[in-house]
This record gives sequence, C-alpha cells and structure tokens, in this order.
Amino acid sequence: MSTKMRAVAKIKPGYGNMGIVEMDKPKIQKPYDVLIKVKSVGMCGTDVSIYKWTPTVEKEYHPNLPNVIGHEFAGIVEAVGSAVTGIKVGDHVTANEHIFCGTCEYCLAGMECICQTRPILGCHINGGMTEYIVVREKNCFILPENVSLHAGALAEPLSVCIHAIERVPVKQDDIVAILGAGAIGLGLALVLKGLGVKRYFIIGLEKDKARLEVAKEFGAHPIVLGEDEPLTVIQNITGKKGPNIVYECSGAIAAIKMAIDICRPAGSIGLVGIASKAQEIDTSRLVFEEKTIVGCRAFYHKTWETTMKLMETIGNDAEKLITHRLPLDAYDEALELIQSGKCIKTIIEP
Ligand SMILES: [Zn+2]
Ligand SMILES: [Zn+2]
Repeated sequence: MSTKMRAVAKIKPGYGNMGIVEMDKPKIQKPYDVLIKVKSVGMCGTDVSIYKWTPTVEKEYHPNLPNVIGHEFAGIVEAVGSAVTGIKVGDHVTANEHIFCGTCEYCLAGMECICQTRPILGCHINGGMTEYIVVREKNCFILPENVSLHAGALAEPLSVCIHAIERVPVKQDDIVAILGAGAIGLGLALVLKGLGVKRYFIIGLEKDKARLEVAKEFGAHPIVLGEDEPLTVIQNITGKKGPNIVYECSGAIAAIKMAIDICRPAGSIGLVGIASKAQEIDTSRLVFEEKTIVGCRAFYHKTWETTMKLMETIGNDAEKLITHRLPLDAYDEALELIQSGKCIKTIIEP
C-alpha cells in the first residue's frame, strides 16, 4: 500500500495559494491517536475565507501554513493507538476539529470553543480534505448506525446549529425566525424539526429560492426578502405575535439589524453568522424592549454528544443539505459553488 496521499492544502498566505499536494500518509504516533480513512468532507464558507485570506482569517485564526484544509469530515477508522479504548478499527466516525487544551478556565467550564490555546484541524493542524487524518480519540465521535458517512460529515455544521440552541434555548411553542438560508440556517430548520418546535420561519433572498424549498422539507415557513415583508408575514401567521427567538445565520449587517427589529420585546437573538467587518448598530431597541443578544461560536465539546443523539433521531435527513459530490481534484469547483450560492453543501469524496 502506498505511503503517500493527496490533499487540498493552503500553501502560503494571500489570496488563493491553494492546491493539491502529495504528502506522507499520517501514522499513529501517540497512544490516543486514531487513524481515519476519510470518506466524505464538506467544503465550508470558512474554507473559502482561508482561500481568499480574509481579514478575519488573518487576524482571528492565524492559520499555520502550509496546511491541509477541511474540518467537516467523516470516515472509517483504519488503526488506533495502544491506549484507545472507545473506538475500534472499522468504526464510522466524525470529529470535533477543536483540539482544545482541556486545562484552561474555559475548557474546565466546558466552553472549549473559546479556549485560547486551541489549534483547529484544517486551520492550524492538517485537516480532513485528504485521504487520511489522525485525530486524538477524545475528539472522535462514533456515528449512529443509521447515519451515513455523508450525513456524518455534516455533524460539524449541525453541531454549530445545536450550539446556537444551547446558547439561545427554544421551547416547542416558541416562534422562531432564522435569518440566512445557507447550510447553517437550513441546518437549524432541520434541528428545530427534530426538536419538535412548531412554528419557525426562514428568511432568505431571491437567490435562495431553491434552498428555501429544502427548508420547507424541514418544516420551516420560507420568506423571500423583497417579495414579502418578513415581520408582517410572521405576524399574520402567529396572530400578531412575531418571533420571540431569532437566529441570525448570515453575518450580513442588514440581517443583524433586522434580527434586532423583528424580535419581540423580551425576546432573544442568537448571532451565529460572523459579520465581515465592524458596523454601527442601534442598540436602543435592546434597551427599551429588553431584548437579549447572544454570541454563538461553533460548539462546546459536549454539543457533539447531543448532535450524535439528534442524528440518530433524524437519520439521514441531513443528506438533503448535500447538493453536490465531487472528487478531491475538483476542490476549486467546490469553492466556486459556495461563492456562486448554487450549492447548499458540497461534499468532497477523497
Ligand atoms: Zn465549517
Ligand atoms: Zn483550553
């Protein structure tokens, strides 16, 4: 068997500078290592940001380069280290890409996503857009038996969705608005369906119409900005109430403002999308109407346990988010698809 493998790597800082590289297949080196043969890996907006080398990537993430990209992956365990007890060869697994320290005050509080010494697979350590990856056992999660490897690659974005709900909890009778019809907005609709929430609306743009059709399959009521006035539509259906929970998943400044506007007094807003630059926001509505605004970053490690349970319930419904499947060589086409808005989730099959 070849000891070499191919991977998609960011080579050096700056726009682009990404390509297919040949490298040594990783080996089990530490007792807790797990060697995974990657079967499915999602291309994500963050990968596009790394490709474009956005200010957020440069200032907030400081990637180690060269580095293999890809942080949404699932595969089959090929070998395990001598101290691994919970995972065996042949298991279908996915992994939390945050290699948190486990000892800082945030990690000890179970808030690993804000650990200050937390290298991320696909950013600081070689990621999953390749044939093999080694991940420590602690970060691996065995997929439920009824979940495919492709759906398994979506455990990461679904964990982002579930974490938003951990931060801004929702009850079945709440009225929820989701702003943004990307993979996270749609994933949230799927999670709300899984949780049995009765009324949730998803607001997108004209160009999102095909994605909003998928949201309908997840039980969401779609609203197209420009065609309909979101708050009027929601109030007409909810008896003048409007949403008491709003998840902003686009990062667009207009959407962040809308989230604050349409949220009912005393309601809560979860900010999931990341604004690309600083903007002025009128915070007076937050004061006068006691609205709560909460930042939701990625996920806690424990979030993934919830994700695995939820995925067992929803089975392969997450596969409905996958619009394209491409080989490793077509990684640039996958990057294009995200930027054109023509895909929901593109999966690479290494
Ligand atoms: Zn991602
Ligand atoms: Zn830590």
